[in-house]
Amino acid sequence: MIDDFQFCYTTSVKKETQFRHEEEKNLVVKKSRNGLGIFTRRKFLADETIFEVTGKFVTCDKDDNLDQMTRDNTYRYDEEKYISPQGRIGDFLNHSCDPNAKVVKRNKKLFIVALCPIPRGAEVVFDYSTILASDDIWKMNCNCGSTYCRKVIKKFNSLPKQLQKKYISQDMVPSYILYL
Ligand SMILES: [Zn+2]
Repeated sequence: MIDDFQFCYTTSVKKETQFRHEEEKNLVVKKSRNGLGIFTRRKFLADETIFEVTGKFVTCDKDDNLDQMTRDNTYRYDEEKYISPQGRIGDFLNHSCDPNAKVVKRNKKLFIVALCPIPRGAEVVFDYSTILASDDIWKMNCNCGSTYCRKVIKKFNSLPKQLQKKYISQDMVPSYILYL
């Protein structure tokens, strides 16, 4: 549905981006603590869907020929596939060790869902570890500014056991991440 998309160029968003009308209505991409981030234009209720993660399926194997930034922005989808937003809004979703959103897989699609009520003007953030399975070697240094900051972000099963339990109890970890 090409009509569903609008091209958006701003001084801060350098590459060509494609946002859906609903996304542009509810969200804005602007400068955050670390690069660009997604901010709300309206209040979201707990459990409300914020946006759908769309893009291309990739494997993140060497033959994908993805540059590091594209690789960094992928979302684990199942055992073999990752979703690479490639200019869509999912490229701008930042990590926080104190998240207000989570990734939920529903009807074979990935959604970003509010973990708690999110006020208008807040940055939407989720914990990257919740979509890193035991075979994901990707990691990054964190500068999210939270008092709970873990400094290094790695796969889910590297988290302290208590945090794993908390995240599982809040349905923040897609089931395929736990099985892989
Ligand atoms: Zn952090």
